[in-house]
Amino acid sequence: MTTIYKEMEKCVVCGKTSEHTKWGSTNACGSTDLDTRPPEMERSTIDMWIQTCPSCGYCAPSISERIKKASEVINSNSYRQQLNNLKFPKLANAFFCYSLIQESAGRHAHAGWSSIHAAWACDDDGSTASAQTCRKRAVNLLQKARESSQRFVEQPGGEGALIVDLLRRAGQFEEALRICDNGLKKKPEKLLADILRFEKMLIGEADNTCHLLSEATKESENDGNAIVILIGKRQL
Ligand SMILES: [Zn+2]
Repeated sequence: MTTIYKEMEKCVVCGKTSEHTKWGSTNACGSTDLDTRPPEMERSTIDMWIQTCPSCGYCAPSISERIKKASEVINSNSYRQQLNNLKFPKLANAFFCYSLIQESAGRHAHAGWSSIHAAWACDDDGSTASAQTCRKRAVNLLQKARESSQRFVEQPGGEGALIVDLLRRAGQFEEALRICDNGLKKKPEKLLADILRFEKMLIGEADNTCHLLSEATKESENDGNAIVILIGKRQL
């Protein structure tokens, strides 16, 4: 089960104090999704991964921690518009805003992951178009991360597999297939090859829905959960 508690946090940007819900421990039972989203109960802790200062709108995993350029970014038009964007659920706006701060600080890997988390919040809300926007943004950021040698997945080759899944979920099948084929040409180890072949099959069926890692690896659901530790790492 998940243990939760409330704590006061002092915002480093405006200095105001507000109450936030946090999680002490949780469990994850079953396979992760192909994009590393954890199963329950960890899955449902997502609304505690990000905080929003009710006074100034600073969004971060902990508003008491400063991030380079945060004050500048939160006063920009694009940030203010995103914070109150009615096309996205509130939780997705918070992740998206945090992603804007990280992008501005040049931390593209973190910005990319936060954009993926925004997509998950959109998925939960049934906001399909907004989820696709978040995934396309995540792909751009993760490609920039690659160009600047910022790792965003631990396992070699896992970065391509994550990008393939983001593109597929965003309906960008051609580009997803191209990266998938490139990955397979490099003769990756069995686990990655299984994932890429499964993605290729889904792409062939124009399937842009969520699938479990265990479907790709044909392992039991619990094994699927163990595998993700090698494939992806959530960065908050
Ligand atoms: Zn504040």
